[in-house]
Amino acid sequence: MTELNKQLHYIYDEVLRRNPGEAEFHQAVLEVLSSLGPVVAKHPQYTSVIQRMCEPERQIIFRVPWVDDAGNVQINRGFRVEFNSALGPFKGGLRFHPSVYIGIIKFLGFEQIFKNSLTGLPIGGGKGGSDFDPKGRSDGEIMRFCQSFMTELYRHLGEYTDVPAGDIGVGGREIGYLFGQYKRITNRYESGVLTGKGLSWGGSQVRTEATGYGAVFFADEILKTSGDSFEGKRAVVSGSGNVAIYAIEKIHQLGGTVVACSDSSGYVVDEKGIDLDLIKEIKEVKRERIEAYATARGGDTKFVSGRLTWDVPCDVAVPSATQNELTGEDAARLVKAGGKIVAEGANMPCTPDAVKVFAEAGVKFAPGKAANAGGVATSALEMQQNASRDSWSFEYTEQRLATIMRGIHDRCLATADEYGAPGNYVVGANIAGFIQVADAMLAMGVI
Ligand code: GLU
Repeated sequence: MTELNKQLHYIYDEVLRRNPGEAEFHQAVLEVLSSLGPVVAKHPQYTSVIQRMCEPERQIIFRVPWVDDAGNVQINRGFRVEFNSALGPFKGGLRFHPSVYIGIIKFLGFEQIFKNSLTGLPIGGGKGGSDFDPKGRSDGEIMRFCQSFMTELYRHLGEYTDVPAGDIGVGGREIGYLFGQYKRITNRYESGVLTGKGLSWGGSQVRTEATGYGAVFFADEILKTSGDSFEGKRAVVSGSGNVAIYAIEKIHQLGGTVVACSDSSGYVVDEKGIDLDLIKEIKEVKRERIEAYATARGGDTKFVSGRLTWDVPCDVAVPSATQNELTGEDAARLVKAGGKIVAEGANMPCTPDAVKVFAEAGVKFAPGKAANAGGVATSALEMQQNASRDSWSFEYTEQRLATIMRGIHDRCLATADEYGAPGNYVVGANIAGFIQVADAMLAMGVI
C-alpha cells in the first residue's frame, strides 16, 4: 500500500477518531484512501468529497426482540448504515451473523458505495444486519426474528430510499419473511423494496447465482487478457454458501475443475472435482457441516478440520467465505501452490498483507468490490424488472450480467492505466468507483 499524503492522512485520522474500535471499517477506508493519492493530486476539488464519503449519511441501530421456540424472549441488535445515496437509493445486503457489529456493517457499507458505482447502475451504497445467529434455529424462529427486524426497519426503506437484499445468513427464505412483513405493515406490494425475492413474486432469474457467476466471469476476463481460459484449470473456492456454490458451478461450466471448498468447520479436497448436486444438497437443503460432503462422496475425498490454509495446488483461487480469511501466510502458500489469479467472491477476504504478497509475486488480484459486484448488479436488474413489471429470461439476464462484469473489468484496467498503475485492479477499482460518486456529489452541492 502506498503512503497516504498529508490531506488523506488527515481524513484517515478523523475516521479513526470518529469510529474508535471499528477495525474492519478502518481497514476498508485505508485500502481506498491508499489508491486516491494520484486522484487528489490531479483534482484537488475531490478532497472534501472524500472526507464526506467516509461519514455515512445515516446510521440506524435498533433492538430486535423475538420469542424462541422454548418461549424465551431473545434480544438482538439490528443495524442499517445508509452510507451514500449520490447515485441512487441506498443498496446493499443484510448480514445475520454473531460477528456483526457496527464496524462490520460500516466496512461493508463503505465498500458497497464503490462496488455499486462500478456496476454503472443507479444504486447508492448501504448495508445492514444483525448479530443474530441463524445456526441451529428453526424455521419458525427465523421467521419471528425476520418479522421483528422488519417491524423496525420498514420505516427506513422504500424503493426510492433504501433497498436491502441478502448477504451472509440471509438468503431466499429470509427475504421472503422480510418482504411478507414489509407488505403487511405498509399495505403496499412494493416489489422494488427488497431484492433476492422468489421467482414467482418479483424475483429475478440469475440473482441467486449472480455473485458466484460474476466473480468467475471476472476471473475469466483476467484469463482472456493473456489469451487464456478456464479450460483445464484447477481452482480452489473457499466457503460453501451461496457465492461459493455458484462460483463452483460456473467454473465447471467453463471447463475448469474446483478441487476444494470449505466452511467454518474445515475443508474438503476432492480431486475429481466438487460434486455440485451433492454440495447443494448438503449446504442448501440439509444445512449440514461440510464433513458430510466427504462422507457421502467417499473415495479419495478428504475432510480436513480447521481453516483452509490455501496450500491445495491450483491456478485460480476464489475466496468466497468472509472478511480477512486469507492472511499473508496463506497468500505465500497459495503462491507456492501455483496460484496465479485471485478473484475475491467475498467482501475483503484477503488481508492487506495477503494483497501485498500477491502484488510482489505477480499474482493477478481482483478485489471484491469489482469481482463480486455481480450480485448487487443483478439486484439492480431485479429492480429494473420490478419497475417495469416485467421479468426477463435466464439467458438474457445472464448475458446482461456477463456484459456488466466485462465492463467493470475493462474500466478497472483502463483507470489503472490512466493513473499510472497498469494491471493493478485494486487501484483501478478504487479510483473508477470513487470518481463517479465524487462527480455526482460535487454536482449536487454540499450534501
Ligand atoms: N450482499 C451482496 C453484496 O455484498 C449483495 C447486495 C445486494 O444485492 O444489494 O454486494
